[in-house]
Amino acid sequence: MSLLVVGSVAFDSLETPFGKVERTLGGAATYFSVAASFFTHVNLVGVVGDDFTDRDAEIFRGRRIDIKGLERAPGKTFFWAGRYGTDPNERVTLATELNMFATFRPNLPDSFRSCKNVFLANIDPTLQKSVLEQIKGVPRMVALDTMNYWIERTPAELREILKHTHVLVINDAETRMLSNEHNLLRAARHIFKIGPKTLVIKRGEYGALMVHNGGIFSVPGFPLEEVHDPTGAGDSFAGGFMGYLAASKQVTDAVLRRAMVYGSVMGSFAVERFGLERLRKVKRSEINARARHFFKLTQFKL
Ligand code: AMP
Repeated sequence: MSLLVVGSVAFDSLETPFGKVERTLGGAATYFSVAASFFTHVNLVGVVGDDFTDRDAEIFRGRRIDIKGLERAPGKTFFWAGRYGTDPNERVTLATELNMFATFRPNLPDSFRSCKNVFLANIDPTLQKSVLEQIKGVPRMVALDTMNYWIERTPAELREILKHTHVLVINDAETRMLSNEHNLLRAARHIFKIGPKTLVIKRGEYGALMVHNGGIFSVPGFPLEEVHDPTGAGDSFAGGFMGYLAASKQVTDAVLRRAMVYGSVMGSFAVERFGLERLRKVKRSEINARARHFFKLTQFKL
């Protein structure tokens, strides 16, 4: 079953203790779609400027990613710059230039409108809603990511789209901000009342926690000696998670748990090198091997 993603395709300038790169390809929808395409077919909706070359678009070629919905218009592509210190969970945003994103109005190609699984990456909740409104019929699974910017500035619009969201995929700080609850389990109960019945909390190098009516499941972050660049970990996690779910016939608790593991697997590959360097080279056999590694990592006898 195909999967639709709407979100940023960007150029990122990144600084970590391991080095610095200028204007490398990034964006939430880019990380998401590359990660998800290992599991299912992905339809990408976004916008880029005329500084986005065919060479940049090569990342999507030869993968199960349809970029018919990637608009190209005169102007500049979304730009983001960030710096990380020794703690990979802490980042400072140095620049956010919306550029083409400021006026972006998503318009889904006809062939995308019957998508059953939808991932609304971190963008203006009004745009997330407009994408959902263009989907024909009732989608099987709608997942959404957001950030402090939208939680603070557009709370009413965010609450509205959350009513139509099945899975909320956000980080721990955002969970606390959205719910006004410090404790994550209480925060989850609060969020269930707004709409989503499954909450996936991304916790950086500590992994991720899923809370839903079937219980709680926790997956660790894969222990790596060197995290070169944490950018895109959350979106790659979401790509592995949603890609696995979209490819599964049913969404049971067991399937959701495996999706969490594949999310963590994809996030762990993303951070091994700068930008998309590692994800673009990873092989399906390596993904499977790392999933087996997770099994060993978390198994114990009682
Ligand atoms: P993450 O998975 O959270 O590390 O996401 C990193 C990606 O999000 C980067 O490649 C950025 O280009 C993109 N990004 C950063 N800020 C925003 C924003 N305000 N809206 C959309 N995308 C963003």
